[in-house]
Amino acid sequence: MRKCHNIDMIDKNEVVAQVEPASGIVFQANVQVLIIGAGACGLTAALAANDNTNDILVLERDPEPSGSTALSSGFVPAADTKCQRSKGIQDSAHEFNNDILAKASGKQNSELSKLVSYKCGKVLDWLGECHGIDWKILDNFLYPGHTFHRMHTVSEKTGVGLMNRLQAAIGRAGIAISTNSLVDTIYMSNEIISGVRVKRPNGLFEFIGCDNLILACNGYGANKELVKKYIPEMSDALYFGHAGNQGHAVLWGEQIKAGVMHMSGYQGHGSVATPHGVLITWALMMEGGIQVNEQGLRFSNENQGYSEQSVHVLAQSNNVAWVIYDEKLHLLGKEFPDYLKAIKSGAIKSADNASSLIELIGVDRKGFEETLRLIEDFSLSKKVDPFGREFKRNLAPDEKMYAIKVTGALFHTQGGLLVNEKAQVLKSDKTPFKNLFAGGGAACGVSGPDVSGYLSGNGLLTAFSLGALAGWNASK
Ligand SMILES: Cc1cc2nc3c(=O)[nH]c(=O)nc-3n(C[C@H](O)[C@H](O)[C@H](O)COP(=O)(O)OP(=O)(O)OC[C@H]3O[C@@H](n4cnc5c(N)ncnc54)[C@H](O)[C@@H]3O)c2cc1C
Repeated sequence: MRKCHNIDMIDKNEVVAQVEPASGIVFQANVQVLIIGAGACGLTAALAANDNTNDILVLERDPEPSGSTALSSGFVPAADTKCQRSKGIQDSAHEFNNDILAKASGKQNSELSKLVSYKCGKVLDWLGECHGIDWKILDNFLYPGHTFHRMHTVSEKTGVGLMNRLQAAIGRAGIAISTNSLVDTIYMSNEIISGVRVKRPNGLFEFIGCDNLILACNGYGANKELVKKYIPEMSDALYFGHAGNQGHAVLWGEQIKAGVMHMSGYQGHGSVATPHGVLITWALMMEGGIQVNEQGLRFSNENQGYSEQSVHVLAQSNNVAWVIYDEKLHLLGKEFPDYLKAIKSGAIKSADNASSLIELIGVDRKGFEETLRLIEDFSLSKKVDPFGREFKRNLAPDEKMYAIKVTGALFHTQGGLLVNEKAQVLKSDKTPFKNLFAGGGAACGVSGPDVSGYLSGNGLLTAFSLGALAGWNASK
């Protein structure tokens, strides 16, 4: 079962993120490209830098690289890729950018969304051709807001599988990753980074100099104090991301007067099985499943997006909802590794018909029966769903029915450092720091300031595209 972290368990006082002047510091080594963080962003940056140099070091605080990337479903959105073309999918970067814009109601960082929507396809093709990553397209359902099938995945359909591919490529390229290396201090004089201090588990420090520094250490989802400050609505919610996302990039950024944007933006999720702690695929909702509360009533348009659904679920009694679906969707779910985990963990309840399911899960009978009647009317166009969802099918009350108790969770933050087209970190006056780069969750994303602005895949989108841009530009 997946290990999850309640924000309250993480002590902000442990987070040291200092910026110090470089004078008097003797660095034990110097590298051309130094990368903090070995998730998708850091490893992609390292592979890109390796196109120009071998002088690269990745620093990772954990004993093994994993990050939020390994916890993720590992679905990367990209347009106009070889993989899409081989399947006859006529997507374009322009359409992709329009979908990002529509989901964020135009409030996203528009220069950045254009940059990454045009870049990500090229980055995935390059990873395929030069580093042997064999992409597949998830084409059995569309995530909310995506016009085309553009989620790229490896055959396992997991973040762990994705990390394994990236690490294998790093190994083949002979790039060094130093694990158990928590960076707590960066050294900067005259707006130029000269190196970092690394804290080892035995409490000893090492000093590593660099010509260029890439921040690939993700956002601040695990930092209780920063979440309270920027995303108060999620300060008591379950945190479902990696414990290493302590906000180092923005804490350093604040001290050097870097530009930051959309700090209230985040990816939530309205479908984490509770108390089992397993992510339930949103494919169930997109293909006909519904969510009801303890009163047996629907409370939102489930097809709007799983991110904003986190807030709707948390607003229900006991902060929970039930995912309700039928046999057809159960079979679809079984195509996803997380769903198989949910079966094993006992999160999935089933009964021969709606009446027995009500007995089993204890929702209000009258409310639930009325909900099923309404869905039948919506699907026959006899009535219009007041939440605005279009129903193509009903859930038959006399057939086998499934239910999973879920809660809403915070997955990762979308606000962060502003970067330019080279992934260089910008100062508050929008001019770049020459040798400081950022990508992935360390940088501002493309979801705008609201939870509803998160289009599925916006997380790995900027990890891969900005990671590659940072690596290529930092190694020139
Ligand atoms: C359950 C879940 C499912 C998700 N599914 C998807 C999905 O399918 N598609 C999608 O696009 N997004 C998804 N996301 C979001 C996605 O996982 C992240 O946006 C993405 O992994 C960010 O990549 P990253 O490289 O920036 O960060 P990470 O993968 O978190 O890597 C950052 C690394 O930096 C290390 N680090 C941090 N601080 C320091 C420091 N000071 N010194 C040294 N090392 C440090 C961390 O330990 C970590 O290993 C999901 C998130 C979750 C939680």
